[in-house]
Amino acid sequence: MNQLLVIDQEWQDQAACRQIPVETFFPPAEQEATDAKSVCLGCCVKNECLEFAIQAGERFGIWGGLTPQERRSLVARRRSRAALLETATE
Ligand code: SF4
Repeated sequence: MNQLLVIDQEWQDQAACRQIPVETFFPPAEQEATDAKSVCLGCCVKNECLEFAIQAGERFGIWGGLTPQERRSLVARRRSRAALLETATE
């Protein structure tokens, strides 16, 4: 069953990247994400941004200071942790 994605975009009004060219957040290679990551580092809605990207399954770009590969790794770690906790409570 598909989950309904609730899009609350109010956090975007506070995004530190609002005045930054969008290309900055879609570098040609993940290794070139330094500029975007430095903006995200000081962003007050970094967590909201990251969770939105994960829920939306964003496959491209820097969201919440993480590259697509870093987001996939985070999701995998979360799933592993959840599986361990489930096993521990059985
Ligand atoms: S975390 Fe980065 S990409 Fe997300 S809103 Fe903030 S500055 Fe923009």
